[in-house]
Order: sequence, then C-alpha cells, then structure tokens
Amino acid sequence: MTMTEHADKKRVALHHQIFIGLSMGVVAGLIANAAWGEAAGLDWLIRNVTTPIGQVFLRIIFMAVIPLVFSALALGVAELGDVRQLGRIGGRTFAYTLVVTMISVAIGLILVNWVKPGVGLSEAERQLLTGSLTSSTVNKALQSAAESKTIVQTLLDLIPKNPLADAVGAFDENHRGGGILAVMVFSLFVGLALALVRSERTETFERFLQGLYDVVMKIIQMGMRLAPVGVACLVFGVVARLGLDVVYILGKYVLLVLFGLCLQMFGVYSLVLKYAVRVSPWRFFVAIREVILTAFSTSSSNVTLPTALAVSEHNLGIPRRISNFVLTLGSTANQNGTALYEGVTVLFLAQFFGVDLTLTQQFTVVLASVLAGIGTAGVPGGSLPVIVLVLQSVGVPGEGIGIILGVDRILDMSRTVLNVTGDITAAMYVAKKEGYSFDIK
Ligand code: ASP
Repeated sequence: MTMTEHADKKRVALHHQIFIGLSMGVVAGLIANAAWGEAAGLDWLIRNVTTPIGQVFLRIIFMAVIPLVFSALALGVAELGDVRQLGRIGGRTFAYTLVVTMISVAIGLILVNWVKPGVGLSEAERQLLTGSLTSSTVNKALQSAAESKTIVQTLLDLIPKNPLADAVGAFDENHRGGGILAVMVFSLFVGLALALVRSERTETFERFLQGLYDVVMKIIQMGMRLAPVGVACLVFGVVARLGLDVVYILGKYVLLVLFGLCLQMFGVYSLVLKYAVRVSPWRFFVAIREVILTAFSTSSSNVTLPTALAVSEHNLGIPRRISNFVLTLGSTANQNGTALYEGVTVLFLAQFFGVDLTLTQQFTVVLASVLAGIGTAGVPGGSLPVIVLVLQSVGVPGEGIGIILGVDRILDMSRTVLNVTGDITAAMYVAKKEGYSFDIK
C-alpha cells in the first residue's frame, strides 16, 4: 500500500470514527444520566472536562470559518466569470431557497396545528416545565431579542461599513452589525470586482486567495482529526444532562419536530433529487454521511461547511465553482430545518400558554420562520433569540423559550442536519440547471 493509499484509507475511515465517537458519547451519557443524573460530580465533569474538550475541536474549526467563507465566496464568484452567469446562479439559488424553505415551514405548521402538542398537559407537568424559566440562557435570549433592530436597519447592516468589524463580531451574540452575512456580502463584492478586473496584478491576488483556501482547508482537516473525541464529549454532555422526564413530557413536541424534519429530508429532498436532479436519493444520502454526522454532532452549519465542501466535490462531483458559491452562502442563508423548527416551536408555545393566534399573527409566524431560515447564524442555538422575538411579536411570553431549552440541543443537532443537507441538495439542483449531470457511486 502506498503512502497516499494509506492516507486515503485513513481519511475514508474518519466518518466511522466520528460515528463510533457519537455512539460512545450517547451510551456513556445515558449511563451517567441514569446513575448520577443529579450528582454535582457529573456536572463538574461536564463543565470542566468534556465540554472544554469538545470546545477545543469546535474552536479549531470556528477559527477557520471566516477566512474560509471569504476565500471560498470570492473565488466562487470570480470563477463564475461573468456577471450574467453570477446573476443566473444567484437567482436560481435564491428562488430555490425561498420555495423549499416555504415548503419546510408549511410542513411544520400543518403538523403542529394537527397534532397540537402544546395542548392537554397536566398541571403538574406544566409546573415542572415552567419551573425552569429563569436560566441564564433564557435571560441571554431575552436580552438579544430586546436589542433587536428594525427590518430596515437589519437589511442595511447586510452591507458592511467595516467588513473587519463584522468578521470580528461574527460569532459574538452581542454584535450589533450584520455579522457573517455582511462578511459574505463583502466577499461577493471582492469576487465580483476580481471577475471584472482581469490583470496580472489581480491574478496574483486570485492565486493568494487560492492559497488561503488551501491552507484553511488544511487547518480544518487537522481540526477534524479531533472530531471523534470532540464529538463523543459534546454528545456525552447533552445526553448526560438531558433528564428523560423532560423528554417524556415534551415527547410529542420533540417527535413532531423530528418527524417534520424527516418528511422534508426524505420526502421533499428525495423528490428534488430524483425528479429534478435525476440521481438516486439513497446513494446521495449514503455519499454525504460524513456531512450528516458532522452536522449532527456539532450543531453548526458553519462548522460543517468545510466537510460539506469536500464531500460535494469528491463524493458527488459538484463543480467547485458552484459548490463554493451555493454551500458557503447556504451555510447561513438556507436553513430549512431552522425554519421548520421556528414555526413549530412558536405555535407549540402559543398552545402551551393558551394564546389563540389570529390569522394575521399566524401569517407573521410563517413570514418570520422563512426569514429565520435565511438570517439565523449557523452556530449552535442560533435560532433561540429569533424565537423569542417572534414569540413576543405574537403575544406569547418570550420566557416561554425556557420550556423547550431542555430538549433544544437534540433538536438543534437534528435541524442542523437538515440545514446542511438542504444546502447540498440546493447545490446539486443549481448545478443540474447549469447543465451538469451526476453519477454518484
Ligand atoms: N444550529 C443551527 C445551524 O447551525 C442553527 C439553529 O440554531 O437553528 O444550522
């Protein structure tokens, strides 16, 4: 076996390693929860050992996200060549995102109106859930929602006055600017200008960007080596803390969200893949399993972006100029899972508090969920402040979010899988429309 073959073999095995890490985290977490669920020692272990180890892994990937987004998008646009092509691909990506996000929200809302998971809880169960309404996460989400901006300001902030400030604040919950979306807009401009000015000097700059892209991908590859251990630690913390009582009481709501996500993933995406892209959905899902595992265990579309880029190129054969553009934008702006989850959660909490929503208010929820799918940051728990905002705007107490916090992480992991799978499906669809065809092995 040559060195490269050996290395290849090792790389292929990474998703197996991640899977083993995930399983070990789940099993160890379940045992720890059953044996020492309430013990202070377990809490200490999670706070001081497993969470920090998981964070080391996440942080190595996070530190590469901004340079990756910048180089991938600028190169993606520059490589598209002319402005008309960019307009066409951008238009298709946008139209696809809008339609599929709306389907996603519709699935969620139909299910939640039909099953009504928030109605009919016993008084004792309600007490148990509302007892947890003062945690610091609730306060943080309430605070971010209170500092929300007007729609005009939000749109204006997409065009950064100072792209570096937005890059610096991209993962800071208290950042007031456009954050990573603004960084994306800046990168699009750089790519566009690069495509328009073709000279020897800009060629040097383009090669610099290519170098940056390669270096950043390498850093991420190094970080991914820690993935199996990091994932085991992250998942252990979630499972060990997640008291089964809460899951049981919120069971209907949790199952409903998961069922909705599955419908979108295996129903809607399969239809798109089979009839619009003309590939076997089954082969597609098998080919992207590493992406699914990474999204599930990290709860972050941004952290999963590098894996999605690599898998799209190597396993699916999506041309890089298209995947760089669609996947990078999509990691923040195309979040079907988040949109579905927002709609279900707001209506669930409205049912819980006995608030009857008027037709206009229901419409607000639909619109807000679609927008949440476009504007939510691709980081763990990115949806929470948005949910508080929507809750308050339709007259449901924002603190209500505390009711679902206990189970949010597991739903976050699941909706992130849908978010990222949705991005890759979008890239397949756009590439097909651009005349490419696929033969997934
Ligand atoms: N964690 C999600 C993501 O990164 C965002 C969310 O909270 O819905 O895709």
